[in-house]
Amino acid sequence: MIPVTKTFFPPLEEYQNQLKRIWDNEWLTNRGELVKELEGSLKNKLEVPNITLTANGTLPIQIALKILAKGGEVITTPFSYVATTSAIIWENCTPVFVDIHPEYLTIDERKIESAITSKTKAILATHVFGNPCNVDEIEKIAQKYKLKVIYDAAHSYGVKYREKSIFNYGDISTCSFHATKLFHTGEGGAMFCNDEKLNHELFYSHNFGHNGPEDFHGVGINAKMSELQAAMGISVLPYLTKIIEERKRIITFYNYNLNFSQIRRLLIRKNTLWNYSYYPIIFPSEKKLLKVKEILNKENIFPRRYFYPSLNTLNYVKNEPMPISENIANTVLCLPVYYSLGDDKLTKIISIINKNV
Ligand SMILES: *Cc1c(COP(=O)(O)O)cnc(C)c1O
Repeated sequence: MIPVTKTFFPPLEEYQNQLKRIWDNEWLTNRGELVKELEGSLKNKLEVPNITLTANGTLPIQIALKILAKGGEVITTPFSYVATTSAIIWENCTPVFVDIHPEYLTIDERKIESAITSKTKAILATHVFGNPCNVDEIEKIAQKYKLKVIYDAAHSYGVKYREKSIFNYGDISTCSFHATKLFHTGEGGAMFCNDEKLNHELFYSHNFGHNGPEDFHGVGINAKMSELQAAMGISVLPYLTKIIEERKRIITFYNYNLNFSQIRRLLIRKNTLWNYSYYPIIFPSEKKLLKVKEILNKENIFPRRYFYPSLNTLNYVKNEPMPISENIANTVLCLPVYYSLGDDKLTKIISIINKNV
């Protein structure tokens, strides 16, 4: 079977060595030695001023919205994983969708201003497939209208834009370290923030609001990463450069060998150091996509419709038509990319697509 992605498993012995530390410490959670070590390593590697590790990649979005959007309207993208929209609803905010750019697939910044109302508090945009939003223009709009900017950077581990970590843009950025993501801790995530005061608020919010054992800064939730999760992260991290190189090899192979007369691929924004996190291709029609998907499935190859459906069509939001996002969601398919996916399998996938599109 060839799935869209396969979780990278570090050598078991290396994971066991990390677990041994947990057993020696007799300390499983509440910001132990391993969580703090992983935070330190990631901070250095990513060149970010602050990082707080979390239990998953959804809680940091909710915390960011709770603090910055405060129940108001949130301008957001309809083309993302469902968590981007559901977090807005979960925090009792109102999503206001703005359609996406047809080639970058990120929120179309040229359409943001006309969606702003007196109730707008924040912009929550996704660097979808690790492709950066137009962060410069979004920053300008946010300053002009005094809005906060949150980036769902769940796909963006290791991405740099203008030689800076993508996590350094916006008021708050979040990432996911879920097992299907590029860097993973099984379940896990992180939040990033350059402003010390806001970072402090994020930090105490992820730990019940604690200010020491008997005092509280304010309201909070439990979003802490455990030592068991950090053990996985510490074991996976040394392999990241290799993992990204492997994925680059696979994507380069697709780029050279797929026939792009009918299908098209993602346009990566200029000045981006990309992370090869996904390989979406866009078909000329949904019918063609379904046909190719069915033939691939018969051969035990399982690409995924990331992201389908367009989030403005969810049954719990007010549906305003988003023609570009709906069209992309109907015609996009992410091809298999994972460590150890060999040329023979790639050749098979490519020949099926080239023959049937
Ligand atoms: C994976 C993902 C999330 C959620 O992350 P979890 O770690 O699974 O909670 C949020 N947003 C996007 C865009 C994602 O792809």
